Amino acid sequence: MAASLVFRLHDRGPELVREVLLERGWEEYDRRHRQDEDWNLYWRASLFHKSDYYNLMPWQRLNHHPKTVGITRKDFLTRNLRRMRTTFGAGVYDFSPIAFILPNDYTRFLAEYNRLRMSPGPPIYWICKPVDLSRGRGIFIFEDVKDLVYDSSVIVQRYISNPLLISGYKFDLRIYVCVKSFNPLTIYIHQEGLVRFATEKYQLSHLGNLYSHLTNTSINKFSPFYKTEKGKVGQGCKWTMSKFRHFLHCQEVNELLLWQRINNIVTLTLLAIAPSVPHFPNCVELLGFDILIDVKLKPWLLEVNYSPALTLDCQADIAVKKGLINDLIDLMNYRWVDRFRDRAYKRKLHRCLKVNRSDASMAALTVKCSTQKNVEKTLPQGEKLPLLKPEKSQKKCSGLIPRYHRYLPPVEMNKSGAKSGMVSANTTTYSDNKSADLILGPRTKLTGVKKLPCPAITARLPGPPEVTLRDDNETEAEVTPSTETDVSSSTCDTPQQEPLAGSWRLPKIHSVGQRSVNTASSQTREKGTAVPPPRVGDFIRTFPFNSATLKASQEILDVRTVIQELLKLTAKLSHCSRPIRRKIRLDSVRDSEGDGTFESLFWGPKDPKLISHCLQHL
Ligand code: ADP
Repeated sequence: MAASLVFRLHDRGPELVREVLLERGWEEYDRRHRQDEDWNLYWRASLFHKSDYYNLMPWQRLNHHPKTVGITRKDFLTRNLRRMRTTFGAGVYDFSPIAFILPNDYTRFLAEYNRLRMSPGPPIYWICKPVDLSRGRGIFIFEDVKDLVYDSSVIVQRYISNPLLISGYKFDLRIYVCVKSFNPLTIYIHQEGLVRFATEKYQLSHLGNLYSHLTNTSINKFSPFYKTEKGKVGQGCKWTMSKFRHFLHCQEVNELLLWQRINNIVTLTLLAIAPSVPHFPNCVELLGFDILIDVKLKPWLLEVNYSPALTLDCQADIAVKKGLINDLIDLMNYRWVDRFRDRAYKRKLHRCLKVNRSDASMAALTVKCSTQKNVEKTLPQGEKLPLLKPEKSQKKCSGLIPRYHRYLPPVEMNKSGAKSGMVSANTTTYSDNKSADLILGPRTKLTGVKKLPCPAITARLPGPPEVTLRDDNETEAEVTPSTETDVSSSTCDTPQQEPLAGSWRLPKIHSVGQRSVNTASSQTREKGTAVPPPRVGDFIRTFPFNSATLKASQEILDVRTVIQELLKLTAKLSHCSRPIRRKIRLDSVRDSEGDGTFESLFWGPKDPKLISHCLQHL
């Protein structure tokens, strides 16, 4: 019988993840009663260690990709966006306020400061933020360089002094982004999100009043005005994104363009690191993008959070975050076969012992079961380990390929993958029942299962130095450098198997017009390439969004083409001044940019329209 899916939480949190998974019928990992690898999801607010990636088994997922710190630490983000601006132009990478990393960039900062101070116009303000702190800690705003005092590494960023206000209060948007895969790049943005308000009216004459200038909940929940009615903002300091959308509807704004620009910010930011993130499709990444909108409705990227806060402080949090985590779990696409990890584990262990009876080092690798007696405890009742001689071909368990991995399912490699040691997510399928055998055992009959997808582990890829992040309550990430490299692995989405007895929730059904599309069935193929589902719950696929970007993101990411496509789409939408309200027939819509059907929804509006449909009306 298939067991329940098992989750493992680092440092006992976050509580919301536990709650959601228990509700879905998962069990929590308990080190005292389970083997080290007897879990399906390992959730950490901080970074994983190299070994966590290296030893990942086919039924396991992690909630982080390696190397995303390139955008989640303020100084790395500044540096990476600066590099992208130099390569692709300031006109494209114009969404992040100019910033300097101090002390290194002090001279450059002074030059810019003096240049702007001399130029005519309103006064210029700056904001100083410690690079490795979160939740608004250590932040201050200044106008005169004499007030700039710091004793650690900081970034000094141009302060957006003309934010859009609601009833006189500053706010920013917390956008939840899930990177399902970095190779091929696959991005989803959640329809719901949060709007976070300052709790005192915005006043440039009081730069020291953090309740007026910072929108962090961790600060504003301690404001004397937190519970006060604040005009349209109401009590507290948060709205849901739905409420904000409703607010926008009542204004005469080109809403589509605003959402598309935010969407662009997300994609362009991720493009800065995507080529250097090791291929690791057993992972997902939930990122929190903080976006400020100015009076001209231009969105600005303030920062990217590695472990967005999952605490439930108010009604808006409850309305947004629970659905978010449920949808994220759906996006991880657990399958029926993932429940058989215990059998797979025993099988693998069995084989390890078989191979390494004479190999002392392998004994250490057999996790907790170092004696035959212990191993036998883990086997089905009455089953004994046969005493077999090591197999010659399997004796050498050293080198780059982890010892366990030689027992993993064979994966089909694409041409470039075979050369580089990378595995294409799209071609990695169980080619036949042999691979499922690895989990279920060689004699298992997979009734109704034709081809099973399986995450598999590939050779290690070199990568930049890794860092360790520590989690915080509101956001998120403090970092300490270390020098780790990671491994990569592969999985792909294929039709899901029948779920067992209500213990997992099927992805929400998306309905466009009269027709429903669920995540599994809506996965299509475009010229042999799998197109990820357009929607999973409230997560909308924002990349790839047409045939050209799908093609540009296979094998080697063609960043230039992707940027061109983004610009083309944005230019078209900027001519559209009214929202489109016509009913859509999904099956009649074709990808206007390509030659195949490509169902891409428009992220942002409440009932997402197909992008191609929006463009038809321009
Ligand atoms: P932290 O990681 O400490 O939350 P952020 O960069 O998110 O740091 O900044 C905290 C808050 O400060 C933001 O939520 C926003 O309200 C404000 N802020 C940050 N940078 C700017 C900026 N360049 N212009 C205007 N406001 C900013």
